Amino acid sequence: MVASAGALVKITTEADLAYAQRRPGKPAPANAVLIDANENPLGPCTEACSAIAALGAKGGRYNFGLSQELVRTFADLEGLKPEYVRAYAGSSEPLHYTVMAFSSPAKSVVVADPSYEAPGRSAGYSGAKLHKVPLTKDYAHDVKAMVSADPNAGVIYICSPNNPTGTITSRSDIEYALANKPKGSIVLVDEAYIHFADAQPVLDLVAANKDLIVLRTFSKIYGMAGLRCGFAVGRPDLLAKLDPYGWNFMPVPAVIAAMCSLKDKTLVPARKKINADVRDETFAWLTANNYSFVRSQSNCFLMDVKRPPRQFTDAMEAKNIYVGRTWPTWPTHVRVTVGTREEMAAFRTACKEVMDMPVQATYYSVPAPTPFLS
Ligand code: PLP
Repeated sequence: MVASAGALVKITTEADLAYAQRRPGKPAPANAVLIDANENPLGPCTEACSAIAALGAKGGRYNFGLSQELVRTFADLEGLKPEYVRAYAGSSEPLHYTVMAFSSPAKSVVVADPSYEAPGRSAGYSGAKLHKVPLTKDYAHDVKAMVSADPNAGVIYICSPNNPTGTITSRSDIEYALANKPKGSIVLVDEAYIHFADAQPVLDLVAANKDLIVLRTFSKIYGMAGLRCGFAVGRPDLLAKLDPYGWNFMPVPAVIAAMCSLKDKTLVPARKKINADVRDETFAWLTANNYSFVRSQSNCFLMDVKRPPRQFTDAMEAKNIYVGRTWPTWPTHVRVTVGTREEMAAFRTACKEVMDMPVQATYYSVPAPTPFLS
């Protein structure tokens, strides 16, 4: 019997907890295919790995100047003044700081739905109201609806390419948001996945002094999710509200690896092509099998598994393939990260077997809790 999401039965909270903790509490086997967290299976580039290995005893020093050198390098590459850039250990930190700085019980946060949930969690801390605006039929952010969602909005969060759909919100829409947003609010554009897509980045709008903060990370195309490095890019008066120091003592391995990554001019185009080739191969297979999915420009995509998502993810996990998570708005869609060609071949074999299984009427009615966001 095909069950609608509402008719499903939740089994136990203990089971939910065990499921949520499977990665920290029950590490995936060494040979597992990990396509659940939007990481890059290629890891840091070769030069970054060699530089970190050579770091050794220098790790005993603060190396104060290194973080500033990284900031200067990135600023030069992007045509920005260094004071418009701050480095952090990943982009989660400045995302959280930005929402905390510009929202409050009187200043709400506006996000798309489905989209990356981190701003919503930060809004929970700042006591801000959260407005969730459905994506358009093309899966872009509905910026017109977002800017008019609340005249007292403090933050309008645009994730482009969007996590989880991998779809783009056009630059002209972002310009519209900047021109029409409520007075005193900022637009927070999350470009975590920008290097995978053909979209036009918006860092030049920061240089033009708009009310905009852009987030960048080394966790995705640069393969440095565990090394932790990212940037907040914005007007100095906006960045000053994020944290009082002006710059961070960054972990030295992260800074060294980020510098190597930025200096390698072939890295981004080469990895963009590798991801696009494997993604297109996967989409061709999904289409040939009549599986429904959202055509993404990123390193992940949503697939409609037409069953309780945890029936799908559990069955895949039993075959050693760890796929990603679910958003309540679209309760039968599961996010899959694009892995290597070999990993996606294993995904296809397991996916077909699991999709051929009968749909179970009673399964977990709620998506797995998500302790860690990625
Ligand atoms: N923004 C988006 C859209 C993400 O998907 C993620 C992680 O997956 C992040 C930000 C945070 O990444 P990190 O803190 O590793 O830079």
